[in-house]
Parts: sequence; structure tokens; C-alpha cells
Amino acid sequence: MASIVASGRPVRVGKPDGKSVDGRSVLRVLGLGIHGTHDVELLLDPADGDAEADAALLDRLLELLGAAGPAIPGAEDGRVLVGISASHGTAAGVVARMADRAAPRPAEPAEDAALAGRRALAALATVADDFRARGAISWPAARAVLEAGASIAGDPALHEDVARLTGAGRSAPEALTEAIQPFRDTIAAAGGDLAQRVADIEDVRDRAIAICLGLPLPGLPDRSDPYVLVAHDLAPADAALLDPAVVLAIVTVGGGPTGHTAILARELGIPAVVACPGASELTSGQQVAVFGTEGTVVVEPSAARRAAIGARRTLSTAASGAPGGTADGHRVAMLANVGSPDRAVVARAAGAEGVGLLRTEFCFEGRSQAPTVAEQVAVYGQVAQAFAGTRVVIRLLDAGADKPLPYVRSASEDNPALGVRGLRALRQADDVLADQLAAIALVAAAGDAEISAMAPMVATAEEARWFAEAARAAGISRVGVMIEIPAAALAAAGLLAQVDFASVGTNDLTQYTFAADRGIAALAGLQSPWHPALLRLIEMAAGAGDESGRPVGVCGEAAADPALAVVLVGLGVSSLSMAAASIAAVRAQVGRVPLDECRRLSRLALAAGSAEAAREAVSAALAR
Ligand code: PEP
Ligand code: MG
Repeated sequence: MASIVASGRPVRVGKPDGKSVDGRSVLRVLGLGIHGTHDVELLLDPADGDAEADAALLDRLLELLGAAGPAIPGAEDGRVLVGISASHGTAAGVVARMADRAAPRPAEPAEDAALAGRRALAALATVADDFRARGAISWPAARAVLEAGASIAGDPALHEDVARLTGAGRSAPEALTEAIQPFRDTIAAAGGDLAQRVADIEDVRDRAIAICLGLPLPGLPDRSDPYVLVAHDLAPADAALLDPAVVLAIVTVGGGPTGHTAILARELGIPAVVACPGASELTSGQQVAVFGTEGTVVVEPSAARRAAIGARRTLSTAASGAPGGTADGHRVAMLANVGSPDRAVVARAAGAEGVGLLRTEFCFEGRSQAPTVAEQVAVYGQVAQAFAGTRVVIRLLDAGADKPLPYVRSASEDNPALGVRGLRALRQADDVLADQLAAIALVAAAGDAEISAMAPMVATAEEARWFAEAARAAGISRVGVMIEIPAAALAAAGLLAQVDFASVGTNDLTQYTFAADRGIAALAGLQSPWHPALLRLIEMAAGAGDESGRPVGVCGEAAADPALAVVLVGLGVSSLSMAAASIAAVRAQVGRVPLDECRRLSRLALAAGSAEAAREAVSAALAR
């Protein structure tokens, strides 16, 4: 096996037989006789090397060896499956399919009522214990998801119903199915916002039934060698257990690009393609190459392509902490979206210049009570310490619709996505809001990082003014709002007059612009942030920022797409905040394009007739 070894300076390229040459000499590399069908391995030392120079070198070498190439399949590749991009990056590997869930069993042979009751309750207890045990060793967002599952499995009302049904002669699996069904139906009927909890409940049911029947537990494949995970969709508890050391990429038949799975995959830096119907044909053991940015999967890729992807994946771990900006030096801060102190540490190591979005609802996920001021100070303080000397934007609890929080309640609504959510919900939860502002003020006063408070889901200038007054009265000096409702983008000047900065949340702005629920896979085609209609709204918001002299950034997932990031810079946004794993690629891409060219490309995208046309036009221009 040939290998390319680029470790610190000078970079050397070698073969396992010991012969190695200076990697900067094309002629010497060619003289080694390495070619594109060899496996390629790249070892980088990010602390010692220069990631961008190494990236350029690697590209040249791969081109030279005939092994480079993006997601366009070559003649040697197999067929291509098309889905939706959910998490950037590329990976190649062997498919491991997730076991299909044990379907609820209606008819089971009768068994002794007492025994059936014991079996069913013991199965629920095992599920709860298993979730808790896994949660104890997981990272915080995952722990919260698993603890929520454990609470469902341990729910006393559920246990009572199971006992009643087994007492009435149902078998253990029947009792579990019947007892859980009404809870599941009630929550499903409450609206799309609670879909996440429906998946949690079904997951508990399926696991408990599998235990009763002695079947393998549904869930992630039990293997330690790296694989590409293929599933119909991931239950939240499965998503929470994803290990980026083992799961090279994720491909799902269902799911949406802004759902829970996609967000966790992005946080972990695992490339993911969702809403990919062709994935149902993939079988365990097949080789695939997954192109997270393009949303495509190549089945049975050529050996050269697999080698090139292996090299690129290693390279992507090399982080540069240099200030982001265009090729001609126009500054664009490269910030991270994080949901916990642990992820903040990872983001800092990945080269983030600050935190552009701390999703505080993720920090306390799974809690039934509002976190105290002291708890919040501890958590936000750790994030500020991880980003000492930089900036941290703390978004206030974004409750409602797809992110229900038990302690920020709103009345039952037919359409919670258009109901009392985000800042509207906080305005009705005085104590929760006051505690959170007090905690943020205390962390700001500690002075580790420049702290801002940002309000979610702001629609009007009046709301922006109300929030700014409340935050400043609490002692917070830097205040911002999210622009994720079309009205806020259209009237951005009015909002910006009240606050210090704004950040465009493209996930929600896309959902509200296209009236397409971000969690519904069937509508994924309407959720592309490349659509010129969305880009026009961003242009308006950025233009208002320019006129007012107040920064307008982007913190939705659009910022994590390197080509789209160039367009956003051209539209005038001043910072990009994204999952940590995307920062190196976005920084590198923006750094290759001068500002005027970013502007030209943004005009190209704005003039396109569709999201696909915009993306193709810009990608083609960047490839030239
Ligand atoms: C957004 O809507 O783009 C955003 C960043 O917020 P969230 O995804 O947490 O709703
Ligand atoms: Mg949002």
C-alpha cells in the first residue's frame, strides 16, 4: 500500500518500503510510481502544520495521482443515490444497516397474568436502566435525550396501564403495545412539534417488546469497526449514541435536513444524507461513498475514489484557528454553534473564533424544571472559559413547536409553529426569563469572554425593543436578535435600530418562507437555503446591517455549506456560525475567493430560477 505522509514541515511522501521524497516536489512524487488505484493515507499534525497549505498540497497530489474528485461519479463508480444534504463532509466505507424495529405484536399466546406483568415491567425497567447507563457516559445533548427516554420507560402511569392490561389477560408484548398506544396517539395528535417525543415513545415500546421476545434490540449496529450507518430513520436515542470514531457517515431513507438527527450529526462532524429513498436498497456489507455536502451516495465507488476520500477525511480534522476572511482580507468571523460546554471545547479545538450561537435549550435538554440561575451560570461560564478572550452569543431558551420545554409552557395550540414560541413564550414566562437574563449578566460580568444575549424568533421591532430593554435592565450590555421570521428580514432596519446585532437563523427562516415544516422529510425539497427567495431575505437583512453599521451574521445551517458561505459573504453577512466540524472547510473556501467575486457569485445565485440552479451556477463558478 502506498501512502502520502504529510506531517509537519517538510511534508514527505512515501511508500511503506521506506523510500520517501519531499512532497512539495511534483517530479519526485511522480517518480515514486504511486497512482490513483493505490490506497492513500494522509497524516497531518494540525498543531505543527499549516492546514490550508496542506490542503492545497493534498489537492495537487490527488490530482496528480488521478484520485481526486468531488461527488460526480467517474466511469469506475457504481450508481448514485440522491438525497438531501444534512451534514457536510465525505466518507467512504462499508454499509451497516440498522436493525428494523420489532413491530408491535397484536396476538401472542396467553400466559400467566402475573408472569406477563412481571415480564413487561421488567422489560421497561431494563430499557430505563440501559438508557441511563448509556446517558451517564454520553455527551450532554445525548445524555438529555437518553434521560428523556428513561423517564418514559419509568413512567408510573404507563406501568399502571401495563399492569392493568396484563391483569386482564394480555401477554407482555400486547400489554406494552396497548398501554403505550394512547400516550403515543395523544402526543402525535398534539401536532408536528411533538413528533420528536412520539419517536421517543415508540423507541421505548420497541425496545421493551424486543426484550420480552428475546429479539435483538433495535438500534445501532453493535460493532466497533468503522461503518456507514444506513437506516430508515434514527430514533433520538439512536442518534444520541452516535460515535464519530465508528460511524463514518449516515444515510437515512426518511428524516429532514434540520431534524434532531441532522443536528447531532453536524455537531459530531459526521457526514449525513437524509430523505434518500434509494437507501432502502442498500445492504450491509456494500461499499458506499457518502457526499454530505452534495446529498449524494455513490454505491460501490472505485478504489481510487475511496482512497481520495480517506485522505480528505483525515485532512478535514486539521484545524486552523486563523481569523476567517476572503482572499483579499475582508474579515468574516468563523464562529461555532454549540449546545453544551463539552461541544464548546471541541469547537475551540476545531478553530472556531467564538460562539455565534449557544443553544441554551440544548444545554438543559430533558429537564422538567427550569435550570436555576446557579446552574445556568455554571454552564454558560464553562462555555465562556472555553472561548476565553473571544465572543460568545448566548441565545435565550427557544421554546415551542419543534423544541417544547416543559417549564416554558404555552396553551395547547392547533399550530404551535405559528403559536406562542421563542421570544413570545419567554414573554409569558417571567421567572424563567428573569433567571436566564440574570445568569447571562453574571457570566458577562465575570469577563472571560465578550457575552451577548440573543432572542429567538423575533418578529417585530416592538419585540426587539422589549427584549433589548429587558436584557439591558438585567445588566447585559450587548444584545441581539435572531432573524428567522420573514417579517423580521423584511423589516430588519427597524429591528436593528433597537439592538446591537442580528443573526439570521436560516433553518427557521427557510421553514417560514416556504411554509414547509423543517421536520417533515417529504418537504425536504422545499428546505434548501440556496433558494433565491431565501437569499433575497438574507440580502435585505445584511443590507440593513450595512446601513446601520450593526453586524448581521448567519447562524443557521446554511453557513456550514462552503459554497453557500461564499454567497452569504457576498450578500453582506459579517460572520458565519456553524457546527464545529464545518469550520475548517468553510474558512478554507471563503479564504480562496476575493470579496468582489463573492458578490458576483451572490448575484448569480439571486438571479437563478431555483435552489438547484443557484447551487449549480455557484459550484460551477467556484470549480473553475
Ligand atoms: C435557525 O433557525 O436557523 C437556528 C439557528 O435556530 P434553531 O435551529 O436552533 O431553531
Ligand atoms: Mg430557529
